Amino acid sequence: MTRLLIVGPQGSGKGTQGVRIAEAFGIPAVSTGDVFRGAVAAGTELGQQVKAIIEAGDLVSDELTSAVVRDRLSQPDAADGFLLDGYPRNIAQVAHLDEFLEGRDEQLDAVIELVVPREESIARISQRAAEQGRSDDTEEVIANRLAIFERETAPILDVYRTRGVVDRVDGVGSLDEITDRIIASLQARGLGRGAAA
Ligand code: AMP
Repeated sequence: MTRLLIVGPQGSGKGTQGVRIAEAFGIPAVSTGDVFRGAVAAGTELGQQVKAIIEAGDLVSDELTSAVVRDRLSQPDAADGFLLDGYPRNIAQVAHLDEFLEGRDEQLDAVIELVVPREESIARISQRAAEQGRSDDTEEVIANRLAIFERETAPILDVYRTRGVVDRVDGVGSLDEITDRIIASLQARGLGRGAAA
């Protein structure tokens, strides 16, 4: 039963690390960005609703995003834990998630804050743009997404910090090094295999 959230700016590697940590814990990684991109690619009604918003790097409405997450977390594979990536992304979404989890008598066990200097995230996003050609990886859209992160998402860490659940992890290094650091910090909290408590 491990409920985790990974937070970091675009280009911090949170998607990659989120999948690795979820695998290590045997829980599903739930990435709202992936859900939205999948819906756009599949041309579903949800995809049509969010396509222009994602391409501009803006945020999808809190109501729609929270509904998507509630639906996903209600699937049987998330009953015993999950790792959220990219949600909640602002204070209003924290309140939505709190309400949902309280209704299940649950709470987040840990919030992983992946710390990466701005220049490093920009370099990584530019590399991904060259490799994958994501439509929201243009220079202008990247700047918008980083500004939104600093303005709207960084404050959620203060909320979780007051709850004592945030682990700050250095996000610079090899993929394996960073995964090991995250797992060590979670183990220090008594989470996962070989946990101290
Ligand atoms: P990501 O891959 O997490 O950077 O998400 C890609 C895009 O999906 C974002 O730039 C937003 O347009 C949208 N998105 C993902 N998660 C959320 C969220 N929690 N709230 C609003 N929009 C989101």
